[in-house]
Amino acid sequence: MKPTHIEHIGIAVKNLDEAIPFYEEVFGLKCYNVEEVTDQKVKTAFFKVGQTKIELLESTDPEGPIGKFIEKKGEGIHHMAFAVENINEQLQAAEAKGVRLIDKTSRKGAEGLSIGFLHPKSTFGVLTELCEHPK
Ligand code: ZN
Repeated sequence: MKPTHIEHIGIAVKNLDEAIPFYEEVFGLKCYNVEEVTDQKVKTAFFKVGQTKIELLESTDPEGPIGKFIEKKGEGIHHMAFAVENINEQLQAAEAKGVRLIDKTSRKGAEGLSIGFLHPKSTFGVLTELCEHPK
């Protein structure tokens, strides 16, 4: 698969209006984009740390994946995303190696990326996302 870098770390938060100023004031990072991904029932806020991003995720619906995550586990790290080339080939290759997939083919995520998730039961408990930048 050979990811080129960690594209982002996704962190579930209850409230972006509280979490964004925290990252700005404590870490001195600048939130450069806030975007709603209706598909995922989340509002996302992005910060850059080198070439890796921090993606804060606030649920817009208690029944959505982040709403359920927070209810079960509370706020915290939700997923890690690797940047890869040819995402659909990588998803197939992972499946061929016995990894359970959440997404058999990639779909559209925030910031125009193609994304696909591997199931945490197959990845030592870490919800792992693959993502590919549009060419
Ligand atoms: Zn993500």
